Amino acid sequence: MSKSKMRAERRFQGVAVSPGIARGKAWVHRTDEEVVPRYELKSEQIAAELGRLEAALTRTRGQIQELQQRISLSVGDENASIFDAHLLVVDDRSLIDEVVRTIKKENLNAESVFTNVSGRYIKTLSEIDDPYLRERAVDIHDVCRRVVRNLTGGASRDLTSGGGEERRILISHNLTPSDTAQLNPATVLGFATDVGSKTSHTAIMARSLNIPAVVALHDISQQVEMDESLLLDGYTGLIVVNPSAATLEAYAEIERQKGMVERELGSLRETECKTMDGKHLVLSANIEMPRDVAVVKQSGAEGVGLFRTEFLYLNSDQLPSEETQYEAYKSVVSQLAPDPVIIRTLDLGGDKIMTSLNLPEEMNPFLGWRAIRFCLERPDVFKTQIRAILRASAHGNLRMMYPMISGVEEVRKANVILEECRNELREEGVAYDERMQIGAMIEIPSAAVSADLIAQEVDFFSIGTNDLVQYTIAVDRLNERIAHLYEPTHPAILRLIRMVVSAAHDHGIWVGVCGEMAGEVTLTPLLLGLGVDELSTGAALVPRVKAAVQQLSMEECVRLAEAAAALDSAAAIYAACDAVARAHYPELL
Ligand code: PEP
Ligand code: MG
Repeated sequence: MSKSKMRAERRFQGVAVSPGIARGKAWVHRTDEEVVPRYELKSEQIAAELGRLEAALTRTRGQIQELQQRISLSVGDENASIFDAHLLVVDDRSLIDEVVRTIKKENLNAESVFTNVSGRYIKTLSEIDDPYLRERAVDIHDVCRRVVRNLTGGASRDLTSGGGEERRILISHNLTPSDTAQLNPATVLGFATDVGSKTSHTAIMARSLNIPAVVALHDISQQVEMDESLLLDGYTGLIVVNPSAATLEAYAEIERQKGMVERELGSLRETECKTMDGKHLVLSANIEMPRDVAVVKQSGAEGVGLFRTEFLYLNSDQLPSEETQYEAYKSVVSQLAPDPVIIRTLDLGGDKIMTSLNLPEEMNPFLGWRAIRFCLERPDVFKTQIRAILRASAHGNLRMMYPMISGVEEVRKANVILEECRNELREEGVAYDERMQIGAMIEIPSAAVSADLIAQEVDFFSIGTNDLVQYTIAVDRLNERIAHLYEPTHPAILRLIRMVVSAAHDHGIWVGVCGEMAGEVTLTPLLLGLGVDELSTGAALVPRVKAAVQQLSMEECVRLAEAAAALDSAAAIYAACDAVARAHYPELL
């Protein structure tokens, strides 16, 4: 790249997913590959290292065989036979012998040698003009990643350091939710990725860490060089490389104005979340980690409407014990008492993968073995969490809800396990809140449509619009290619929300919304008009939503919801919401 190109201002437009403006040098990560540790060994460590390699190969073989069995049971032997090729890789003596020889000769750790040797094999095979051999290169790549993961204990990329001493803007092809959870806001000023979407858990995590972020930039990781100077606009999704003096000046003014609005919003902390005509709306915050409690308190939220507990599990070598979870939940609930805290039981799967559990990879993880489906089949894991939640319920106002409910039977099954835990604790003489409210997340269309049945088994509903939109419109919430189809104001979504609200109210239970829709102030009048009782959003957005509610009247919101029901497109419904929002609080949009 020529010097002049490096210095000229360049602009890239992506999707803004976490607000804020960041300025700093680029820290570029080009691939999704794990950073494989490389270290020298003493001669007396070599035998143990070879043992470690052998154990990782055995473990890999076991995982592949398990995967093969599962596939064979679900879709037949023919499909499962592709894993025969994977098994051949683990037993490929020429590959393994070369790794062993190199470890002995160069006194290097197994994962780094394995990566190098297999990398050479893969390169050679993929360059040969033969489709069979190229396919084999893909197999080797897949298996080798598994072996290396087994050697490193599943540790993913090390992004915690923040790229050195200096605070920087991270540029990467992609970041997983667990990568993002590792980021240190003290060293990472912001991040930008080639792929991604607004409702991914990566984006949700960025908002919760208050790290400005822009995604779906296509090839930003190829366009930016290490150390180039960047400006990242997490409000509009713009990335400016080598910003000119004029750009920096314009942004200083934008930041000043944004700062003013934020300060004004801060003054709403102690005020009530009530419409102009007196309707109180419960406004809660979503959290991902116990450390988020401080910002919840600052935000003026009335408690926590969604505690995504899976972040206690990600980035961990082992499942958190009952004690660890109890301490975490107790700390959150006791700090926020008497305000309620809703703990969502484990929602692993989808884009939240706990590497150390070594769960089989799935073709469609969002439609797969996720959340309550996993928990009902792993009562050991589920009961540990429920016991911890019940014990913590003695320390404040705790509620619990189940994610990914598809129908009433799952709720009944989960409640049986809950009852078992209650009985155990009663027998052990351990205190818990007998009247703890139990809720169901409504985020699958089948649950929305059968909400009247589910309402008979629970105390509340919380509508997870992030998933409800994805499943209703059949649009992958992570896929930027079809992000334009991801429309929360689709007429079908409105109908489902209306259905859920009336099923809840007919059965005398309350209903909230905890998906990202709850934090979009353009849609606040619509959700109020549809009759929801609670909104729960990232703490940073709470003051904004409160300001919106305070400037609306229920009468107008109900009129809007009725008018929206007669409209036939997402765009028309959005425009109707936007007109109301703009009329009352243009400064918040
Ligand atoms: C949702 O689906 O709207 C939700 C709140 O849960 P998550 O985003 O964690 O899937
Ligand atoms: Mg969800």
